[in-house]
Amino acid sequence: MSYTKRVLEEVIKKNSNEPEFIQAVTEVLTSLQPYVDSHPDYEKEGVLERLCEPERIVMFRVPWVDDSGKVRVNKGYRVQFNSAIGPYKGGLRFHPSVSLSIIKFLGFEQIFKNSLTGLPMGGGKGGSDFDPKGKSDREIMAFCQSFMTELSRHIGPDTDVPAGDIGVGAREVGYLYGQYKRLTNTFTGVLTGKGLTYGGSLTRTEATGYGLVYIMEEMLRQHGQSFEGKTVVVSGAGNVAIYATQKVQQLGGKVVAMSDSDGFVYDPDGIDLAVVKEIKEVRRGRISEYVDSRKNATYTKGRGIWNIKCDIALPCATQNELNADDAKALIKNGCFAVGEGANMPTTLEATELLQQNKVLFVPGKAANAGGVAVSGLEMSQNSMRTSWTFEEVDRKLKDIMVNIYNSISTVAKEVGQEDNFVVGANIAGFKKVADAMLKQGIV
Ligand code: NDP
Repeated sequence: MSYTKRVLEEVIKKNSNEPEFIQAVTEVLTSLQPYVDSHPDYEKEGVLERLCEPERIVMFRVPWVDDSGKVRVNKGYRVQFNSAIGPYKGGLRFHPSVSLSIIKFLGFEQIFKNSLTGLPMGGGKGGSDFDPKGKSDREIMAFCQSFMTELSRHIGPDTDVPAGDIGVGAREVGYLYGQYKRLTNTFTGVLTGKGLTYGGSLTRTEATGYGLVYIMEEMLRQHGQSFEGKTVVVSGAGNVAIYATQKVQQLGGKVVAMSDSDGFVYDPDGIDLAVVKEIKEVRRGRISEYVDSRKNATYTKGRGIWNIKCDIALPCATQNELNADDAKALIKNGCFAVGEGANMPTTLEATELLQQNKVLFVPGKAANAGGVAVSGLEMSQNSMRTSWTFEEVDRKLKDIMVNIYNSISTVAKEVGQEDNFVVGANIAGFKKVADAMLKQGIV
């Protein structure tokens, strides 16, 4: 049996109750197989076994008091997965679906994503099963302060630098940062995604969505295409979805649908982003409210956004939101490119279907790397005690995304799988981390 197959079997056996983690490892190891098996050093040094086992997992109790005076308890996690090329780096997710499996899959993906950015960042991820929906500001603050009271023992600007993710935006990062500062009496770049008045970077808010569209733009350009005049469907209505939509619109594309976890809106005239931002960023409302201000728009409860006809699909909500049936619908309707703004939004089966049908598919670890890339730039600015302009950061972000595209497409060609960006991203991300691990001995 090949080395990669043997390690994959062990991972499946040892983590049998962690389906999302197994899914992420299966995708990576399967596509690495020919490359890894032709480099015997990796097996001799146990690189894959070490890569698939987090360096450290911290799990903790998060007690807090709600507005009625009741004591609530949530689970807290930080998975410090791999520090071969830099301090652990990766977001915090607050969502009721959060489990160890979800955090491990996200941390594992983060290792390769961070490597692809070219910046010195290891992989980590954390979060809680806390649900911020419907909570008052005071409840959010109480939760964040309790969460950080434990997390602060395990992070630091040269050790582990968390950021936001689903359910953790500017407000939560602010409360987390305030508590870290209070506990440690230090003002350091220990979190990214900070507010602009206390060490945040311009363009961080836009970075993941813009970065997604920049890498897709480059991929389209190199295939004789562009966003100009194309119909685009974007799922989600959060940070990534909003700024992906904004950049598509700036490049002349027409976004006709967006969603949240309750349903989706279709607007044949093109999404009015000001309306979405007012609902989601200001009022923290539901996407269904969109139809109140747009006369031709319709709202559909539940799933189904991928049945809308489009040229380009950008899943930007959550894991496994695009399954095999969705992929078939996209293919039938002539969709020719899919870019993952979210982490692992496409199931393994759906990815295979898209690739078999020659849909250009850019996986999340490359396509959504813009967020962590600008987080890396935020760390640099904090260390240098400086701040760059929006234009400077935006230019660096674009350069990074174009470089990522070139490196994943070059590697795909080198291994004889032109346009297989899954293989390209996995090998390109893996190589740097694995080579650093080989040089650092058995640690
Ligand atoms: P937000 O919390 O800002 O937004 C998430 C959006 O997705 C919301 O509109 C949410 O709807 C929707 N959503 C969540 N779960 C589901 C579901 N089961 N079905 C349909 N819609 C759902 O998160 P982000 O935009 O930051 O993150 C989105 C994705 O992008 C995640 O996979 C994240 O890991 C990934 N990502 C984010 C980065 C960042 O910088 N923020 C960086 C790289 C990747 P509702 O309001 O109903 O919950």
